[in-house]
Amino acid sequence: MSIGPGSTMGIIGGGQLGRMLAMAAARLGYKCHVLDPDPDGPAAQVSAHFTRAAYDDLGALRSFADSVDVATYEFENLPVGALQVLGDKLRPSTRSLAIAQDRAKEKAFIEECGGRVASWRAIASCDEVHAAVAELGCPVVLKTRRWGYDGKGQAWVREAGHGAEAWTAIGEEPAVVEAGVDFFAEFSVIVARWADGRHCFWDSAENEHGEGILRRSTVPANDRVAAQIGEAREAALRIAEALDHVGVLTVEFFASNEGPLVNEIAPRVHNSGHWTIEGAVTSQFEQHIRAICGLPPGSTELAASGAVMDNLIGDEVHRWPELVRDPALHVHIYGKGEARPGRKMGHVTKVLR
Ligand code: ADP
Ligand code: MG
Repeated sequence: MSIGPGSTMGIIGGGQLGRMLAMAAARLGYKCHVLDPDPDGPAAQVSAHFTRAAYDDLGALRSFADSVDVATYEFENLPVGALQVLGDKLRPSTRSLAIAQDRAKEKAFIEECGGRVASWRAIASCDEVHAAVAELGCPVVLKTRRWGYDGKGQAWVREAGHGAEAWTAIGEEPAVVEAGVDFFAEFSVIVARWADGRHCFWDSAENEHGEGILRRSTVPANDRVAAQIGEAREAALRIAEALDHVGVLTVEFFASNEGPLVNEIAPRVHNSGHWTIEGAVTSQFEQHIRAICGLPPGSTELAASGAVMDNLIGDEVHRWPELVRDPALHVHIYGKGEARPGRKMGHVTKVLR
């Protein structure tokens, strides 16, 4: 049974991903209901309904569940137990969320699915950091198991004996220690999957990061990366199937000389897929809605020969007058208040003809 236009789609989380989902949903004739503790977020500005509530407010989640026909989430740092009140209305389910929000569970799961990851250890004390650094050798990176995004909650250990500083820097939280990967590029596989197992991929973008934050995604990826996409897609699909994932799932990869290594998964639409809004026939946002509502898939073909997407981070958003003057650019501004350093304020896409 599909959930058709006219229905109401709940979105938990009110950031830019929620905003772009809501805009795609509106075009297809759905109404959106956003739940977020922040009343001024990007998604609420473009949605029919808004509930201001904490993500663990069970009363608010129950009324929200009653008011929507289907619900989804736009980020993964959400309380799994509380979201269970949404039952079958929540797509993807809390299983995808539970795995993706804990880096140790995530890596173990990827390995169970046959995906390759950088050597890693779960740690919960300074002594365990020292032991892991000794076993893995430098450089390694500590990443908190939970709550990390855009490079936050991470600290590198570049020389033996410096584990304690990194442990302090991440706030002495349960973490993973991961071998530094000498990758020649990063890329992502974005897959949309339906409840009946149908699935489709977009072309993979090559992703450039600075200080842990995505700066640019380019499609098509270069030939050396392209050679790894087949193996990467197989891994991504096995992960999506093992999660019984419904909706869009993103898998970030390191392209290394040993082949593609999974970096992390996101059970949702992703920054490295923003280029699909103008650069593909069907965007990741529309496809996510089609998948969770049981509509047929749209085409994921390129709309032109490729695309380049640049994030506008912090002050860069103040470049908008110059960017809108270029008729070839698609400028997206997320409607966030203050342009704090490191904050994703917008993005700009150029479709390559
Ligand atoms: P986040 O959840 O913040 O996106 P990631 O684990 O994806 O965290 O790390 C952000 C970026 O930091 C990666 O895209 C990559 O550029 C770099 N990075 C993370 N882990 C490693 C690693 N093991 N080796 C080399 N670079 C890494
Ligand atoms: Mg990442």
